[in-house]
Amino acid sequence: MEGPQNVASIRFPSSTLPAIGIDLGGTKTEVAAVDSTGRVCFRERCATPAEEGPEAIRQAIVVLFVAARASLGSEAQGPLLVGMGTPGSIDLDSGLLRNSNTLCLNGLRLEEWISTAIGRAVVVENDANCFALAEATLGAGRGSRVVFGVILGTGCGAGLVVDGQLHVGPNRLAGEWGHLSIDPAGPLCWCGQRGCLETLVSGGGLAARWLEQTGERVSAKSILSNEGEENRRFTDRWIGHLCRGLKGVVQTIDPDAIVLGGGLSNHPGLAEAIGRGLAGTLFGAKDCRTPVLVNRLGDSAGVLGAVLRARRDRGPEG
Ligand SMILES: [Zn+2]
Repeated sequence: MEGPQNVASIRFPSSTLPAIGIDLGGTKTEVAAVDSTGRVCFRERCATPAEEGPEAIRQAIVVLFVAARASLGSEAQGPLLVGMGTPGSIDLDSGLLRNSNTLCLNGLRLEEWISTAIGRAVVVENDANCFALAEATLGAGRGSRVVFGVILGTGCGAGLVVDGQLHVGPNRLAGEWGHLSIDPAGPLCWCGQRGCLETLVSGGGLAARWLEQTGERVSAKSILSNEGEENRRFTDRWIGHLCRGLKGVVQTIDPDAIVLGGGLSNHPGLAEAIGRGLAGTLFGAKDCRTPVLVNRLGDSAGVLGAVLRARRDRGPEG
């Protein structure tokens, strides 16, 4: 996989305004600045102090934001576009963050919470949507009309990009793929349902299932990378669940490309295994023509997507 080291060579289309992206993750927070020529001139990350609560998280963002703004020099004196990706979404009725797995942030008026701290208006977007937008525009899905970007990290999210624009839908739920149940008798999910994909294919879900079965507390990556009969069985089942979930996506929207991201997407041969698995199950089809691709932007897709989201919000010239 090509990783974040390639970020320096990424060129955004030039813009009239510089932009700063913030990727507020459950474990890491990353901030990037893109100047008006489209050059990424700053990118840094820190651990998200989720255990210390919202104020500590906000302070950590401010520290990175100030450094990002300084990297823009005199450009930052004028108007500045700011986008922030976060797990969950803003509730349309209340304006409050909901469904974030960084639980201490749920219920906050997130746009206001961050914009008052940094003194700039901020566009907030779901983190998986940011990932999908970045990969569809600058990464593995570039050139494909309809891109479904899947994140397999601690949780499991997705985003849908059509003709370079995010499709979010009237409920802002497009891509909330991780909370479709594929087993009504399956494990209880934090969302209240049973057998959500998130409980079966995400890093957190895999680790929980392994703990139930073996009594061992280990990371999803070690479950998938270690040799051993039980590990192989788990890995095969994991790929099977992913295929079942993606079959639903292909048979509903039939995207031109599926891009895999998040820590577990580095699993060797995963994209090929999903392609083979889908080939055997699609309705009336002998093979699967959908390219299943590993991301090109690595961990930085989220933060670059936040920049793109801020620029899109302003209109095509942004
Ligand atoms: Zn769920």
